[in-house]
Amino acid sequence: MIAFPPQTQTAISFAADLFRQSKHAVCLTGAGLSTPSGIPDFRSTGTGLWSRDEPMEVASLNTFRTAPENFFGWFRPLANQIYNAQPNSAHYSLAELEKAGRIHSIVTQKIDMLHQKAGSQFVIELHGTMQTLTCTQCYHKEQTSFHLDSFVEDGKIPHCSNCGGTLKPDVILFGEQLPQAAWFKAQHEARQCDLMLVVGSSLEVLPVAGLPMQALDHGAHLVIVNNMQTYLNIRADVVISEDAAEVIPAIAEKVLNG
Ligand SMILES: [Zn+2]
Repeated sequence: MIAFPPQTQTAISFAADLFRQSKHAVCLTGAGLSTPSGIPDFRSTGTGLWSRDEPMEVASLNTFRTAPENFFGWFRPLANQIYNAQPNSAHYSLAELEKAGRIHSIVTQKIDMLHQKAGSQFVIELHGTMQTLTCTQCYHKEQTSFHLDSFVEDGKIPHCSNCGGTLKPDVILFGEQLPQAAWFKAQHEARQCDLMLVVGSSLEVLPVAGLPMQALDHGAHLVIVNNMQTYLNIRADVVISEDAAEVIPAIAEKVLNG
């Protein structure tokens, strides 16, 4: 076990108490949860690979449509890195909490499939997933794994096996709307929950950043585990500003084993 400062220990115990009292806990996760798994948060500046280009520009729907080779050139090193990343202890602990009936769902801004790899079942992906690609002409869906090697090794832009159209990764690009079904589910979860745990999201991107506010407005408790300041820290029951990969397992341990 990690020796946390006394103040953090108290906060962890308090968060665990809230989980034990909760009947419907929802976890909202962002890119910060996967940085210990080696995936840089591309919205933060100075995080290696992601900051070489301007993501708002190159990872936009507009670039994808007008200059797909620029988009895919930027996406190529990331695709391999993200696709092959492994969950960290925070992902595994969240999956355990769900298995034990302590977490109802995970709403995520991540596209890296690490919650599913860790064993989580009910995951609502607001920014899409790296798992699949969709044809921009005929909407045929294909598995990323089928195209990944030739794309990563030779830089070949993936094309539809059905009609030859360009395949677009099923991740939500800048300038693109959130997937409607996922967004409705996420809002439902935010309004139903009695506890929301925010992990690794700086809550800067709308409309996702508004979900914890919806939860608060419906009387839920709010726990924030984050290295970054968020606009809702002031309204949270507990804020723990430490590494999620250390804090989440410590909370889960207390919830599950007392
Ligand atoms: Zn097609």
